[in-house]
Amino acid sequence: MLIVKKFGGTSVENNERIFHVAKRCVEEYNKGNDVVVVLSAMGKYTDELIDMAKDINENPSERELDMLCAIGEQMSVALMAMAFHKLGVPAVSLNAFQVKMHTNSDHGNAWLTRIETDRIRKELAQKNIVIVTGFQGVDENNDYTTLGRGGSDTTAVALAAALQADACEIYTDVDGVYTADPRKDPTARKLDEISYDDMLKMALNGAQVLHSRCVEMAKKYNIPLVVRSSMNEEEGTVVKGHGTMV
Ligand code: ADP
Ligand code: ASP
Ligand code: MG
Repeated sequence: MLIVKKFGGTSVENNERIFHVAKRCVEEYNKGNDVVVVLSAMGKYTDELIDMAKDINENPSERELDMLCAIGEQMSVALMAMAFHKLGVPAVSLNAFQVKMHTNSDHGNAWLTRIETDRIRKELAQKNIVIVTGFQGVDENNDYTTLGRGGSDTTAVALAAALQADACEIYTDVDGVYTADPRKDPTARKLDEISYDDMLKMALNGAQVLHSRCVEMAKKYNIPLVVRSSMNEEEGTVVKGHGTMV
C-alpha cells in the first residue's frame, strides 16, 4: 500500500512529538508499505515568521512573505528525516521545488496545478520514507508560493491524488471531526463519518480542522480521508461519500 500521512504543527512542535510521529510512520513502513509524510511547520512557527516579516515591514511583499514562510515546512521535514535516520530507517526530505509542486502565482493563496511524481517514486523505490513540505509550491518563475493558511492538508490530498495512494490520513491535535470545535463547545460530538459536502460546509464556515480546498480536492478525486489524532490510537473520522446529512 502507498499511504500519505499528514501531520499538523502541534503534532511536530518539539523533538518528543517528532520522534513520536516518526515511530508511528515506521510501524507502517515495517509492514511493507510505501510511506509519504507531509508536514506543516513546527507549532506556531508560521505565525512567528509572519510576525518577523511585519516587524521589518508592516506591509510585506507577498512574494517575499512566501519566500520566508517556505522556511517553516523545510525545517520540519529536514528534522523529521534526521529523526528517521536516528531510528535507523532510510528517509529523505523534499521541498516543493525538489518534488516539484507546480502552482499558479497567487502568492499567499496559490492553487496547485500539477505535481510531478518521478522523484517521489524514485525515492520510494529505494525504500526511503519520503517526507514532503506541506503548504508550499513553486510557480512558473520558480518562485515559492504558499497555499493559504492551513494549506498542508491540501498538499497531502493533492499528493495522494497524484500518487494514486491507497490511503490519505490527516493527523491532528483532536480525535477527529466534531459537530463543532471541541475546544470551544464542550457538547461537540465526534463524527465517525462525514460526507465531502458536509465537511466542505464546515470548512467554509471556519472549522479549521481541514483546509476547504483539501476537501474540494478529495471530493473531486474521490479520495477518502481519515482525520485522527497523532497523540492517540482513536479511530478518527472518515470523510467520504456524496450527499449531505444536514
Ligand atoms: P493542524 O495543525 O493539525 O493542521 P489545525 O489547528 O489546523 O491543526 O486544526 C485542528 C483544530 O481545528 C483543532 O484543534 C480544533 O480546535 C479546530 N476545529 C475547529 N472546528 C473543528 C471541528 N468541527 N472538529 C474538529 N476540530 C475542529
Ligand atoms: N504552516 C502553515 C500554516 O500555519 C500550513 C499548515 O499548517 O497547514 O498555516
Ligand atoms: Mg491545519
